[in-house]
Amino acid sequence: MNYYVGIDLGGTNVAVGVVDESCRIVGRADTKTRAFHPAQEIADGMVSTAMQAIADAGVSLDDVQWVGVGTPGTANPRTGVVGLAANLGFRNTPLGALVSERISKPVFIENDANAAAFGELMNGAAKGLDSVIMITLGTGVGGGIIIDGKIYSGFNYKGAELGHLGMVYNGVPCTCGRRGCIESYCSVSALIRMTRESMQLNAGSKMWELAEHSLDKVSGRTSFDAMRQGDPSAAEVVRQYEEYIAYAVSGIINLFQPQAVVIGGGISKEGETLFDPVRERTYAQCFNHEDHNCTKILQAKLGNDAGIIGAALLGRQYH
Ligand SMILES: [Zn+2]
Repeated sequence: MNYYVGIDLGGTNVAVGVVDESCRIVGRADTKTRAFHPAQEIADGMVSTAMQAIADAGVSLDDVQWVGVGTPGTANPRTGVVGLAANLGFRNTPLGALVSERISKPVFIENDANAAAFGELMNGAAKGLDSVIMITLGTGVGGGIIIDGKIYSGFNYKGAELGHLGMVYNGVPCTCGRRGCIESYCSVSALIRMTRESMQLNAGSKMWELAEHSLDKVSGRTSFDAMRQGDPSAAEVVRQYEEYIAYAVSGIINLFQPQAVVIGGGISKEGETLFDPVRERTYAQCFNHEDHNCTKILQAKLGNDAGIIGAALLGRQYH
């Protein structure tokens, strides 16, 4: 049996999984990331955690074919070098080589959002497809582009930043310094901002009760929960948020016409409450939407495991 180690290197935690040939996680381990320590120390932590996951899986290191790493920032899969990952303190860091020399296996590296998209393709919502766009609605908006079974991130590996596609000229300020990006309308942070704005205009809204009468306690769930309790201003917040997502997704579909757009992130757990209206509004704005041969809009399935499974199977792009 062949096994593959996937390392999801985050700013706070390192999550490792051992994945078998049928793309399932059969062993796990995790540890804290020693962010801003020398890269050698971070690599030490990654490899010792990988060895724990291999022990947890009950397999031998000889059965491990390769190691894949999903990292924040820009990752060059050809050289194994991370160009810039601000939340780890990496700058032109040869992460692939640092891991490889500690575990004596081939190492593939990739940006973490791209690895997560690849995981959904390998064993998640987009299993069996080969041209898929993933968009993750979290604190920010992440993206991954997969064309013909391979991750596409541009000639310099900095692409697939779908969250920073323009949506509204001169619109709401974005974390990237620009205005009007998809992230400033479709992220959970944007939904929280819209929820607070609506609460300030609607003193009687149920959203106040759900947020314990404090704007600081508003979450991505506040408007959805209040809508379910029949609150009209909450329903309007959700409707507006879904309009923004549909506008963003229809642009992505018009550009790529992928087999599927997979939507992930915490908010995707709202399920059909979110997906039904988003599908309807998206298709209404797409070219050829009346055609049955159109892009599917799917809820991500793997959650945090997408990054581990995608990283573990990165080598499948070449084998
Ligand atoms: Zn931006």
